[in-house]
Amino acid sequence: MTKGVLYVFSAPSGCGKGTVLTELRKRMPELKYSVSATTRAPREGEVDGVHYYFVSRERFDELVETGGMLEHATFCGNSYGTPKEKVFECLDNGIDVILEIETKGAMMVKESYPEAVMIFMLPPSIGELRNRLENRHSETEEVIDGRVKEAAREIAVAENYDYVFVNDDVSEAVETLYRIMTVSKNLVKINQDLIKGVLDKC
Ligand code: 5GP
Repeated sequence: MTKGVLYVFSAPSGCGKGTVLTELRKRMPELKYSVSATTRAPREGEVDGVHYYFVSRERFDELVETGGMLEHATFCGNSYGTPKEKVFECLDNGIDVILEIETKGAMMVKESYPEAVMIFMLPPSIGELRNRLENRHSETEEVIDGRVKEAAREIAVAENYDYVFVNDDVSEAVETLYRIMTVSKNLVKINQDLIKGVLDKC
């Protein structure tokens, strides 16, 4: 069976990742969205097991120490990580998986699973990013300052990704992401078995 493709999708906080991914779900209903674990407190409307697994610091550390995380990172004072088991179960069953994660964790995935398709979405500008975070009214000014600083650091890491695009219009961004995900199915790095298979038949 052909293995599923692992997509790693990063974008600075406030860049419109959530909206773009909600729209993408409609275009690609068969795609599996990995649910991360975090020590962050739930925001209004967030549901445990749907948006995140909201776990204690002790439980998070235990998952890391027992090798249960594919990657993990600290972001603005909270820990986030991808539980490993379900991701590989899906990939092994031919199901494509998308991880929506920040850049430190993304680099860990790139290192341990080089076949991952790395996609980065940029905001039109840092000023626009700050506006979006402020309009969300879910964080204090101090938290927003931290997230803006973090955004600049994250954007500098974008050069390590395979694909990059700007989100200045949601439907265009979704279209671009969809095209990237479709075309990346033919990347050489995820088709080694295909090449080998044909050679073996010679
Ligand atoms: P938020 O607190 O806004 O939900 O997420 C903050 C940042 O953590 C976002 O950039 C998001 O992509 C990232 N994030 C969410 N889940 C994970 C994860 O499992 N691992 C890593 N490394 N980052 C994550």
